[in-house]
Amino acid sequence: MAASEELPIEPHKTFDTILVLDFGSQYSHLITRRLRELNVYSEMLPCTQKLSELSWKPKGIILSGGPYSVYWDDAPHVDPEAFELGVPILGICYGLQEIAWHFAKNVLAGEKREYGHAYLKVERHAGKASHIDALFAGLEDDMEVWMSHGDKLSNLPSDFTTIATTTNAPFAGMAHETKPLYGIQFHPEVTHTPKGVHLLQNFAVDICKAQTDWTMGKFVDQEIARIRALVGEKGQVIGAVSGGVDSTVAAALMKQAIGDRFHAVLVDNGVLRMNEAEQVEETLTKHLGIKLTVVDASERFLGLLKGVKDDPEKKRKIIGNTFIHVFQEEAKKIQAAAAGSPQAGEIEWLLQGTLYPDVIESISFKGPSATIKTHHNVGGLLEGMHLKVIEPLRELFKDEVRELGTKLGLAEELVWRHPFPGPGIAIRILGEVTAEQVRIARHADYIFIEEIRAAGLYRKISQAFAALLPVKAVGVMGDKRVHSQVIALRAVETSDFMTADWYPFDGAFLKKVSRRIVNEVDGVCRVVYDSKFILHLVLVLI
Ligand code: GLN
Repeated sequence: MAASEELPIEPHKTFDTILVLDFGSQYSHLITRRLRELNVYSEMLPCTQKLSELSWKPKGIILSGGPYSVYWDDAPHVDPEAFELGVPILGICYGLQEIAWHFAKNVLAGEKREYGHAYLKVERHAGKASHIDALFAGLEDDMEVWMSHGDKLSNLPSDFTTIATTTNAPFAGMAHETKPLYGIQFHPEVTHTPKGVHLLQNFAVDICKAQTDWTMGKFVDQEIARIRALVGEKGQVIGAVSGGVDSTVAAALMKQAIGDRFHAVLVDNGVLRMNEAEQVEETLTKHLGIKLTVVDASERFLGLLKGVKDDPEKKRKIIGNTFIHVFQEEAKKIQAAAAGSPQAGEIEWLLQGTLYPDVIESISFKGPSATIKTHHNVGGLLEGMHLKVIEPLRELFKDEVRELGTKLGLAEELVWRHPFPGPGIAIRILGEVTAEQVRIARHADYIFIEEIRAAGLYRKISQAFAALLPVKAVGVMGDKRVHSQVIALRAVETSDFMTADWYPFDGAFLKKVSRRIVNEVDGVCRVVYDSKFILHLVLVLI
């Protein structure tokens, strides 16, 4: 294509962009998120990024925190060219220490680690260069902040001035006397620093002068233009849909960009939720007008799952591999049919619903010795099809995908759908997956979710499901002793992206769900609620 020199247009080329260089902190991606919430576009790259190799210029750079000590022999360091670009730089925690190290090699292990809440005193410098006070402009002199460090600056590098202190950290904030270079020891990106977003806004908007124009409306227009440019006037795209938010939003976007030259495929693997295949078909074809092929491969999947009892990993693998085979077979059929069409060219592209967290995961800095994980995708697994991958959501966080979905006219119910794993109901059946077990688990799950919705709790809960346990319990039903199976309910909520705790339903709700499941689902005589603390990502940064 003639215009391929300038295209595709990437967001960092059209939006003012703050570059976050990741030194491996667990919070790095939050910096990017917070900026985007302020409508400032931001991207994250590993701290080892050579700035001369970037094809675009950031409006400002943020150096993240990290688990290393800058004085270690193998500690990661920022490309010194960052300081030559003439753009503002903000160092956070390790990033502050990195700036100090760059100028003065003056960082050492502190006697005391500082972890948790701290009270910050801001120091103002009336009469000095105005940029010095700009980072804390509009903020109170006393601020609650979140600290997580063990190292400290032994003294200020020359030409820097202190802009904030805590009792334990005399250099909790510093600014260069003449250049827009700043360092802060605390983490403004976490919610434990209540005014942190204001500080990030001061940096991005007032100091870096980044435009606040990162909006979904603009993104949609630009992404549609980018897809059209990539695919060309006749190119065709194929993609799998699952009913989940990501694949539906990606499909809706493709439809807007290239209409019927996008082919969606839904593989019914026999372990989808109740009525799911029908619902997806209805949404995609009736509401969104997307060209969809539904492949009913339930028997094939269930046949292959036969006899696999205890190993959930094995179930996942069987389902994953079979999915690729079925999808590939279908894609080849669609490809062959499309080849004869005069209006359209070959199917050369595969749509993937990759999101920014997957991209971050694949590029994030994992330490001096660890290898950086590469992002795998189904595209590479479709043998002999030579499809190029198109990923319209790869710059977006989940919340942004939801916003985009709303913008594209998707129903609220779909946009806010809980995540559902690819291997579906199969991994919620502990023990052998048979058509009968699927029926039980699926029906119980349906009732549970229906009641959660009816109680107005669906949006409060992040994920909920029913699992079928491989044990039998004795119960009395209709005056008869029964010996049948047990359903375990699970529901979690997360508010801080770091922990997910079980949802405290009230007794009446659990009673109702339990009664409905036992009465309506044949083969179940007992329901239990699983209140295990599901995951706790401890805030270990040092
Ligand atoms: N490891 C450094 C320290 O202990 C930086 C920690 C961080 O970035 N959170 O101070």
